[in-house]
Amino acid sequence: MASVDTTIQLIRTTGRNARGEVQEACSPALARGPWDFDGVVQYGPGSSMHDRIPADSPRQGAIPEEYKLASTEELHERIRAAKEALGDRVVVLGHFYQRDEIVQHADFLGDSFQLANAAQTVPNAEAIVFCGVHFMAETADVLAREGQAVILPNLAAGCSMADMADIDSVEEAWAQLEALYGTEPDAEGRAPIIPVTYMNSSAALKGFCGRHGGIVCTSSNAETVLEWAFERGQRVLFFPDQHLGRNTAKRMGVPLERMPMWNPRKPLGGNSGDDLLDAKVVLWHGFCSVHKRFTPAQVAQARAEHPGVRVIVHPECPMEVVDAADEAGSTDYIRRAVEAATEPTTFAIGTEINMVNRLAAEFPQHEIFCLDPVVCPCSTMYRIHPGYLAWVLEELVAGNVVNRIEVDDTVKADARVALERMLAAKPKAA
Ligand code: SF4
Repeated sequence: MASVDTTIQLIRTTGRNARGEVQEACSPALARGPWDFDGVVQYGPGSSMHDRIPADSPRQGAIPEEYKLASTEELHERIRAAKEALGDRVVVLGHFYQRDEIVQHADFLGDSFQLANAAQTVPNAEAIVFCGVHFMAETADVLAREGQAVILPNLAAGCSMADMADIDSVEEAWAQLEALYGTEPDAEGRAPIIPVTYMNSSAALKGFCGRHGGIVCTSSNAETVLEWAFERGQRVLFFPDQHLGRNTAKRMGVPLERMPMWNPRKPLGGNSGDDLLDAKVVLWHGFCSVHKRFTPAQVAQARAEHPGVRVIVHPECPMEVVDAADEAGSTDYIRRAVEAATEPTTFAIGTEINMVNRLAAEFPQHEIFCLDPVVCPCSTMYRIHPGYLAWVLEELVAGNVVNRIEVDDTVKADARVALERMLAAKPKAA
């Protein structure tokens, strides 16, 4: 199967995909180099391009002209040569949502937490090149050993969802909630509220959770983590992804009316004091623009056109989509579900297109397609172009560390506490 980059070029020039079918991409700007939009105020072409980018987000400085002008073949050759010269002094990590042109150079492929852990299996590596987005590189730095440098090839590769909850807004929300709930535990020793942050958040928010008796979760363990939090608290403040929080709590039996949404731009998040007093989970007003694209109508269309189709979606999708699907689970869950299917199966998948296309290429015995008919990658992941990877690796060969991501030591210590609580949380015995 053609990579998403190749498909986008084909659509741009012919209006058709590699199978000759008429298809569209979500933005014509996808065909341009990321350096063309690194300085703009949006995340760039792709699923999150219309989200607001925070004013203080890191921006990528100039990359030498030679990397912009080099052909793809030349860049691949230079990446291979630099990796060979560096040997096990460097480890390259590639996220599932990354373009194939990057993934082919990765030593490990996985989700953000799998990759941060994978880096720890290579303790001799002096540099960890994280081909993902900003919060992932921060998590790798929190878990890295002393002296290891974590590098993000393009500093402008943020994550629009992670950027929807900044530390100042969360501190402000916390102050309002503490004023309402107080700080005293109830008769069972449970705190009034426990903060829970999704892995897709800044290190500052993980540190906040570490400091306030809270915890981190991933899309694989969100239910176990919420159980952990409900044992210790009367309610939870869940950020930044409202959908993961809602889908998980709903599956655990929390009624929707006990899950008010917190809008950081309104007093009390836009809620009445009574609603917040009755809340079990206060959901931050954040979302992933990639997974927000999926709709129940797409699920219905997949079922109409492919009788017997198995629909699996990511829990970052809206609740109505998760309800309409057959299953919902993390990227790792989706991968394992496809791997485990012994009979040829038709899968309609609701997650990022690079991952879906890669699964389709890897498991040709199945028919696998993305629920969204429009080719639209995660715009922030898309900023990691082979030109940036070649540049940071060649700088390493020359003895220079560029684009290093370093988390402040105090934040790091607090964030590690929240991550360690997550690792220690175990699902309740059935
Ligand atoms: S897919 Fe969504 S949550 Fe993941 S990096 Fe892209 S914008 Fe962020």
